This record gives sequence, C-alpha cells and structure tokens, in this order.
Amino acid sequence: MIGQNQQLDADVIVIGSGIGGLVTATQLAAKGIQVLVLERYIIPGGSAGFFERDGYRFDVGASMIFGFGDRGTTNLLTRALAAVNMKMETIPDPVQVHYHLPGDLDIEVDRDYEKFIQTLGDRFPHEREGIRKFYDTCWQVFNCLNSIELLSLEEWRYLMRVFFQNPFACLGLVKFLPQNVGAIARRYISDPLLLKFIDVECYIWSVVPADKTPMINAGMVFSDRHYGGINYPKGGVGKIAEKLADGLIKAGGEIRYGARVTQILPKSITGDRSIGVKLATGEVLHARKVVSNATRWNTFEQLLPKELLPSREKRWQNDYQQSPSFLSLHLGVKSAAIPADAACHHVLLADWAEMEKEQGTIFVSIPTLLDPDLAPPDHHIVHAFTPSYMSEWSGLDPAAYAEQKEIAAGRVVERLTQIFPNLEANLDYQEVGTPRTHRRFLGRIDGTYGPVPRRKLLGLLSMPFNRTSVPDLYCVGDSTFPGQGLNAVAFSGFACAHLLASSL
Ligand SMILES: Cc1cc2nc3c(=O)[nH]c(=O)nc-3n(C[C@H](O)[C@H](O)[C@H](O)COP(=O)(O)OP(=O)(O)OC[C@H]3O[C@@H](n4cnc5c(N)ncnc54)[C@H](O)[C@@H]3O)c2cc1C
Repeated sequence: MIGQNQQLDADVIVIGSGIGGLVTATQLAAKGIQVLVLERYIIPGGSAGFFERDGYRFDVGASMIFGFGDRGTTNLLTRALAAVNMKMETIPDPVQVHYHLPGDLDIEVDRDYEKFIQTLGDRFPHEREGIRKFYDTCWQVFNCLNSIELLSLEEWRYLMRVFFQNPFACLGLVKFLPQNVGAIARRYISDPLLLKFIDVECYIWSVVPADKTPMINAGMVFSDRHYGGINYPKGGVGKIAEKLADGLIKAGGEIRYGARVTQILPKSITGDRSIGVKLATGEVLHARKVVSNATRWNTFEQLLPKELLPSREKRWQNDYQQSPSFLSLHLGVKSAAIPADAACHHVLLADWAEMEKEQGTIFVSIPTLLDPDLAPPDHHIVHAFTPSYMSEWSGLDPAAYAEQKEIAAGRVVERLTQIFPNLEANLDYQEVGTPRTHRRFLGRIDGTYGPVPRRKLLGLLSMPFNRTSVPDLYCVGDSTFPGQGLNAVAFSGFACAHLLASSL
C-alpha cells in the first residue's frame, strides 16, 4: 500500500493523447488546472496520428475532418485549438464523399446542400420531396446543437443555464436523443434503394446501418458537411494533435511520451486519499482525478482489475460491442494513377449484402488532392481501408500472416482499379496494416474502431457520459457520448474538462 500522505503529481492525469485526451487536457490547462498527459506511444494523436515513409506522410486513420468551421458552436476542433492560442490552416474539400454503390448508384455529396439534394433528387425523382424532408430533419437536429454551447450534460448548472438561454433548442434535442435514423428515413422515404443509400450514408462513419445510428450524430454529420464543411488540415491530420500538444505545454500542462499506464489505482484498492496510476516502468503517480482516453474495454478490463467490473459497465457491454478494426493499405502512387478532378474521399461497395461484412465496404482517402505536400512531387497518397475483425488475423505464424496480408492487399488494389484503372501500374510504395497493427500502435483492444450498438437502442440514450462509477475516474473519447469521429471525441473532451473543472 502506498503511503497516506503522498504528494500529488498533478491535479488531473490524462491517460492517452488521442484527440479526446488532448482536448480534455488543453481545456483544463487553459483554466489553470495542472494537468499531466501520459501517452504510451512516441507521438500524440492516437487514431488521428501519422507516420512517414519514403517522403510520404500518411494519416493513420481519420482524414475526413469535421469541426473546422468558423461559425456556430459545433466547430469544436477550431475552438479547442483557439483555447490554447493555436490555429490551423485548413483546405476546404468541395465534395465530402463520392459513393460508388451497387446498381450503378454513383453519387457525389457536394459541399453545397442544394446541389447535393438536387443530385440525389435527379437519381430518385419520385422521392424528391422525401429526400428534402429527411435531410431537413437532420438540419433541425443540427440547428439545435449549433445554437447552444456544447459542454457537460452531467453538470446541472450548465443544463439549467442552457435551458433558460435556449429552451426550444434543448427541447428539440431531447426529442431526437432517443431516436435512430432508420425510422425517420422511412417516415419520408419508401424507395428501397434510396433507403439502402441512407444506410451506407450512416455506415461510413457509424459502422452500423441507419436503424442503429443515433439521429443526434446523423444531424451533425449530414448537416455540418454543408455548414462548416469538410476541411483538411494543411500538413496532414497529425498536425491537429501536434498543435494541441504544443498548446498544452504553452498553457502550462505536461505531456510524457513512452509512458504506458499499466494500472489505474482507485482509492478503494490502495487505501490512499487520491487516485493513482502505475506505469510500465513501475513508477506510481497520483492526482485528484484521472481521465482515461483508452477505450472502455481497455480501461475497465485491463487497467482496472477485471473482477471489479462495475455493474454499470456490465450493462453497457450488454448494449454495445466492439466494432471491427480495419485492413488498411497506405499506398504511394505516381500521379498518373489518379485523375486530377477525382474527389478526395470515395466509398466502394459491390453488393448491398456485403456492406457490414468482413472487408465488404472500402473507404478511400487521397489527401494529396487537397495538400500535395504530403507526397513527393507528382505523387499521391492513397489510404484505402476496409472493416476487418481480429479473428481473421489471429493465430497466424509470421509467414502465414505476411502471406495473408499480401493476398488481402492484392484484393483491395484490384477492387480499387474499378475507379482508378491506372492504379496498379503506378504503385510506388505499399504498407499494409491489419487489426493487429491497429492494436499494437493505437493500444486499442482488438484494434476496434469503437463501440457499436449490439441491437437497435434508443438513439444515444445509453451512451455513457464522462463520469464513471469508480470515484475520481473519468472516461473520454470514442467510448463516451457522443461516439466516434474527431469532432465527436472533441465534444467529449470539452464535456469532460467542464465537468472536472466544475468539481475541482
Ligand atoms: C482507419 C480509420 C479511419 C477513420 N476516419 C475518420 C475520419 O475520416 N473522420 C473522423 O472524424 N474520424 C475518423 N476515424 C475515427 C477517429 O479517428 C477516432 O474516433 C478518434 O480519433 C478517436 O479518438 P480518441 O481520443 O477517442 O482515442 P484514440 O485516438 O484511440 O487515442 C487514445 C490514445 O491513448 C493512448 N493510450 C491508450 N492506452 C494507453 C495506456 N495504457 N497508457 C498510455 N496511453 C494510452 C493511445 O496510444 C492513443 O494515443 C477513423 C478511425 C480509423 C481507425
């Protein structure tokens, strides 16, 4: 047992420097709270990190970035950076995504809302009215969110204040909170192919179809892409975390890399007066509060004794399961492989029945179409990734693992030639990541993208906020409200810091 009068190492220790962890830390530091971030890897960012090879700068994961708008309240990345006097140059993406779907359904989602509605209406002329009504309902959600300050829903003074400032927006959100997209889409749309399109519109970020996708998240995504827009950070997605980490240090916070936390030490176990963490080196650190930016499974099953799993977490695990991880191809290609007028983001699906299956849907990002400096002159980066489960990659010896990677990568390249016929002939560099890579470098259990509902739930109602049932332990990031995506985890970071600051 550690002594009763141990010195505190910080007011708040944050485990992990993903965007969720960094937004929490910067918000706290900006309020003058002493914060220490412990990151197991050598750079910040987690799934929003980067790596460099042969003159290419690859994004690890995210590259379709919301939250960089310059108006409203939902531009949380802009706001998080500004809180620590940081700003990023961003490049507007004219098309959110170009879908290549079964039945020759080829749709580009234009940054301009009217253009998008027109394009979709031209493809489904008998559903023009329903299309507008459905997407306009998403705007209703967005307008409510975008008119209030987004902080902790666990803090009653904030709830009272925001309710009195904007009662209609709050009541609107309460109405949509337990709803999913599927039922609302079916209220206005009946064409089965168009409903499939709404499914894939959800799937590409929620990794579940419309029936399981909360309306609050859809309101954000389907409207903000036309409001703040999709904007790519100049220099690559990794710059966001680098700037937040710089801002954190300038605001008086501290970040330690190569600092892997192996245990959270709750007061109930140590008998101490403060909560602590133990590092892989054996070092023990104490703080008044600890925030875990690791996934809930990592936090409650690996960093805390599994047998102490709180009943609230057991209930959560009955409602949510791990989504698959990804098979990722990071390609460097000569510019002849990609037409100059191609969109930056593409989604490929050959058969609707395959949408949710292992390696069914392929996501493609070509960020060099927006920022050519991420590759050598006359070259592009292509990041193609497709959902894949750890079970497909476990128990293989090194030779079998390498062979399976090669075969799977070949299949993805072949499918990509459907939209980029010159790709294979212009390949210059290839790196293949699997769920094992995601687990190893991101520290995420089974490399999962995050939690998804096991069945149809009541919208976002059962997604936990930041407080946990372990005293002084909080969670932040994609396994807390409102879920995955950089702007979503930034939301969770704002909420967590607000809750902590109000209790410290
Ligand atoms: C392939 C892919 C594509 C994506 N595309 C997009 C996209 O286009 N747009 C978008 O908005 N989102 C996208 N996402 C999702 C988005 O990247 C994530 O939802 C978000 O980055 C998660 O942030 P986080 O802070 O919750 O956690 P993470 O990014 O997982 O960060 C957690 C951090 O904690 C550290 N850590 C974990 N355990 C410990 C420990 N024990 N000790 C110390 N440190 C620890 C990790 O090393 C990591 O740095 C994508 C994700 C992937 C994988």
